[in-house]
Amino acid sequence: MPLLHQITPHTAYVPGANNLGVILTGDDGAIAVDTGLDKDTGRMVRRALDEAGLQLRAIISTHHHADHIGGNEYLVRNLPGVAVYATRLEAPFIENPRLEPIYLALGASPPAALQTKWLMAKGVSVHHILDGDAVEIAGVRLEIVALPGHSLGQIGVAFDGVCFAADGFFGSEVLAKHGIPYAHDVAAQIASLERLATRDERFFLPGHGELTPRSNLEAALRANRHAIERASRAVRDALAEPGDTLAIARRVQKTLGLTITGLPQYAIFVSAVAAHLSYLETQGAARLILTDEGAVWRGGS
Ligand SMILES: [Zn+2]
Repeated sequence: MPLLHQITPHTAYVPGANNLGVILTGDDGAIAVDTGLDKDTGRMVRRALDEAGLQLRAIISTHHHADHIGGNEYLVRNLPGVAVYATRLEAPFIENPRLEPIYLALGASPPAALQTKWLMAKGVSVHHILDGDAVEIAGVRLEIVALPGHSLGQIGVAFDGVCFAADGFFGSEVLAKHGIPYAHDVAAQIASLERLATRDERFFLPGHGELTPRSNLEAALRANRHAIERASRAVRDALAEPGDTLAIARRVQKTLGLTITGLPQYAIFVSAVAAHLSYLETQGAARLILTDEGAVWRGGS
């Protein structure tokens, strides 16, 4: 079976734990929308395009998370003339991937356990900054859909009836596995779900999950909304007693019954809990106070 699965005449993807989007430019050229975790997924993109007789012209990185940019370095190194595109807010992290484990380590030089390929890809230069809601690449005009929240400046890409939605929403199996859909800014994440709901493409491809026809989009977005609200409730309930961020995270982990298998997953989980604490603070439902025990969260006044 070919690696590349056609979606519409000018769009395709390589399905997997990370779905890799491909836009066909019509002159045997292709644009990759994200490149997966590492050089193996980069190699897979290359093979998929080779099989289909396509040449990679550009990579659009939707956001800086290692499982979306990990194949960039392999592709840029092995294929001549491939230009990398990203938003202004995401580009510094794509060029300096050490920033991801650094922010997960409270800004410190990260411990060895966080310097893993799950959190730290190989960096590449970003050649073009994506500003605004459209871009012309390799002769085709693509719509850029702002989907911040999961990450600072995440985008989706819309073309030929398909919206490549990155981690703007997750498939149901992924939601069940993660407990909290990872967020940097929960309010923005919810607003991005609402933005996706207004789109009228025929297909929506999440970074993780099934290709979703328009008719199933509402249900998928609703499931994401519910997962975010469930996480927010769990964090709010954990504030019944004051506690620092890690104590709150421990309570939330228990409430949601989450098994966390490694330090990278733990760091991501704590970061997502912290995002919900900040979100609750903006709603007046949480306050951060300095005590003799350090910085402690309390429920709203
Ligand atoms: Zn992500």
